[in-house]
Amino acid sequence: MNTLLLGNSIADIKSGAALIKKGGVVAMPTETVYGLSADALKGEAVEKIFKAKGRPMDNPLIVHISDVSDIERFNLVKEFPQKARALAEKFWPGPLTMILKRSDVIPTQVSAGLDTVAIRLPSHTVARVLIRESETVLAAPSANKSGSPSPTTAQHVLDDLDGCIDAVIDGGMCSVGVESTVITLATDTPRLLRPGFITVEQIEEVIGEIEVDDAVLFKLSDDKKAASPGMKYKHYSPKAKVVLVSGGDDAFCAFVNEKYEADKSVGAICYDEDKFELLCKCIPIGKSDDLESQAHLLFDALRQVDELINISTVYARCPQKDGVGMALYNRLIRAAGFEVICLE
Ligand code: AMP
Ligand code: MG
Repeated sequence: MNTLLLGNSIADIKSGAALIKKGGVVAMPTETVYGLSADALKGEAVEKIFKAKGRPMDNPLIVHISDVSDIERFNLVKEFPQKARALAEKFWPGPLTMILKRSDVIPTQVSAGLDTVAIRLPSHTVARVLIRESETVLAAPSANKSGSPSPTTAQHVLDDLDGCIDAVIDGGMCSVGVESTVITLATDTPRLLRPGFITVEQIEEVIGEIEVDDAVLFKLSDDKKAASPGMKYKHYSPKAKVVLVSGGDDAFCAFVNEKYEADKSVGAICYDEDKFELLCKCIPIGKSDDLESQAHLLFDALRQVDELINISTVYARCPQKDGVGMALYNRLIRAAGFEVICLE
């Protein structure tokens, strides 16, 4: 298959929509990461997403809408509870996904057999125009090969999926850089399933206390069923081994420099301030207190690790576990296969 590279003009977005109407799969930019989209109401089209990504069929997809009214227009859910409406009012369009009880129009491929469906209204104009022009709603997981870091540029998408999908629309680099916050409102108490740019603290200001699923910060034991199936898979991994290192600035740099003295194939994902202290090849992702920059650059950094010659192990700063840091920690701990070295 020849993958078409489209720009973000209205004519190009319409070409993308035409491919979707024919049952094709098109990668689109969103404010979080690039998504691989297909008509969410056609099971056969959705199957092509799983095939292109190599995604396990038991991992459900997020349905992207272009307006809140799409939920009723396409009859996507059994109920749209008051707390969900309040969150939609506050955070949509934006990087928040809500899990609701699904209606029968959702194909089993989208919900992976669950009785719920994940819904998001993205804020990226290209995504919203593509959905609207496709005259449907779009199932769209991240547009990477399953297991690899999520794509934040059209080039990342092509690196993973060139020849496996119909088209990619280039909308530049994604602003947020980590995937959406996922919260379920299908349980009695709302529960965070995946942390993202919209934080627990922000959500609690709108709907009161929520629970945080164990799988957000800890490794699930093999016998435990994941509330969000995606959380059980190894994810975000470059080919090099990633190790998280928790400790202060001086301790981190001294530790990595010592490792580098012993083995020149060591690298680091670090804060901007660290790059003057480190002897090894390093990828700075922002100032230590600039979590937005760190989220924006994290996946690109994980992809760059494999492009830096001879790097076999990369040591990464361990983020704080609250605010946007919770999203960074959740992604990095998976990239590191849950390996953390504590220096103090
Ligand atoms: P991705 O689209 O690649 O960002 O992954 C979507 C995430 O949302 C995965 O972790 C899924 O397991 C999760 N997800 C999607 N639909 C549901 C659902 N109905 N219930 C629980 N988690 C879901
Ligand atoms: Mg993904």
